[in-house]
Amino acid sequence: MKIGFIGLGNMGAPMAANLVKAGHEVTGFDTAGVSVAGVIPAASAAEAATGADVVITMLPNGAILRAVAGEIIPAMTPGAGLVDCSTVDVTSARSVAEAAEKAGLLPVDAPVSGGVGGAAAGTLTFMAGGSAAAFEKARPLFEIMGQKAVHCGDAGAGQAAKICNNMILGVTMIATCEAFALADKLGLDRQKMFDVVSTSSGYSWTMNAYCPAPGVGPKSPADNDYKPGFAADLMLKDLRLSQQAAESADADTPMGQLAAELYRRFVEDEDGAGRDFSAMLPRFEKRGRA
Ligand code: NAD
Repeated sequence: MKIGFIGLGNMGAPMAANLVKAGHEVTGFDTAGVSVAGVIPAASAAEAATGADVVITMLPNGAILRAVAGEIIPAMTPGAGLVDCSTVDVTSARSVAEAAEKAGLLPVDAPVSGGVGGAAAGTLTFMAGGSAAAFEKARPLFEIMGQKAVHCGDAGAGQAAKICNNMILGVTMIATCEAFALADKLGLDRQKMFDVVSTSSGYSWTMNAYCPAPGVGPKSPADNDYKPGFAADLMLKDLRLSQQAAESADADTPMGQLAAELYRRFVEDEDGAGRDFSAMLPRFEKRGRA
């Protein structure tokens, strides 16, 4: 296939490289002028999109996605696929899909889980929203860049799945960290706490697979001085998107709201920026009840 790839950052560059390795012709564009081995550089987003069978976008946020979509949709050939893998608000995803459909394109919102490691290894999980025809058009590319793609429903359903998942992740990471900090103060050994909780009803991905306590459980960013991994800044972004969506859908999400506020304070006021999102544990460790 001829593929246009727009946004060659931490995630986009390794994803584009995997498409090249699989034998596709990839033309890429990034405003930062990034170059990726094997990816043909384009001078603009519209140039990268012209003549492509599928265009993939991997951009920072919904406003940028909407601006880029405005440039590329008129340049694309009817029948082509437009696959947005960025994490953005549901409203932007739906408005881009609507404009793309009007132009005869096959749009899919397909945010990912798996981080930079999953992007490099080609083991991402895609959660996709769009028509069956659009999903089928994108599926062979999902199979190269990832290990699983779930068709979640119509336009916006992929983003909805992503922010609901990450709201659970943010809330459970905070719960796991505050429980470790309480255990410390009660004189309970962290390894014993892990041995019990990881095999009891408090178990979770954050405890069992990504334990925030250094030296406990499988290797995680906690064992690497909390270098990300998944940065607290990105968790804050996703929690904000969940709260924006909850507001527009009139959903009551008190735990998600509090998690968003705690990560906001952590990132903006407490030196959490650039640290892994599990660095909430040293934050709680230092604090008292007040
Ligand atoms: P990044 O900042 O490394 O990459 C974004 C790239 O987009 C940058 O290289 C930037 O120069 C480029 N860009 C910005 N405006 C542009 C424009 N108008 N035209 C072309 N290029 C433009 O971010 P990332 O970590 O690669 O994340 C990309 C998306 O994936 C985000 O939406 C993020 O939330 C999501 N995501 C990231 C991770 C992760 O672990 N990094 C995990 C899951 C999802």
